[in-house]
Amino acid sequence: MHHTRRIALLLRVLWALPCSVVGALLGIAIVALGGSARRVDHTIEVALAVEQPHTPAWARQLRFSAITLGHVIVGQSHEALAALRAHERVHVKQYELLGPLFFVAYPGASVWALIRGQCPYRGNHFEKQAFAQAPAPTQAA
Ligand SMILES: [Zn+2]
Repeated sequence: MHHTRRIALLLRVLWALPCSVVGALLGIAIVALGGSARRVDHTIEVALAVEQPHTPAWARQLRFSAITLGHVIVGQSHEALAALRAHERVHVKQYELLGPLFFVAYPGASVWALIRGQCPYRGNHFEKQAFAQAPAPTQAA
């Protein structure tokens, strides 16, 4: 990789780091509950492994397939994470652009969608961008 591109990637990773730390803490909790984590390129993918009997009931009730927190992507399973990778990578790029501001901007975009009478998920600017660039096969967060 070219030197300046490497520095640019480092800066994007650092800018998104506060969000990635939140994702890492969630990931550690999930691994402690029987989930598993894998490094895929410059991201960490964490699977809930809901089929395991000691996973709490609340985890089985979750209505999402995957959620991105900085460079950490949490999903129901590694299969779901692979299927949703292109969609979630758009969110990773959004985190690299907005850094910690994403934690305000994303819910703000959902509120803005509600105000306009749209679905807080499908009407969310960041989801519209992700679905436009990488249509997800199932519900993605
Ligand atoms: Zn999404």
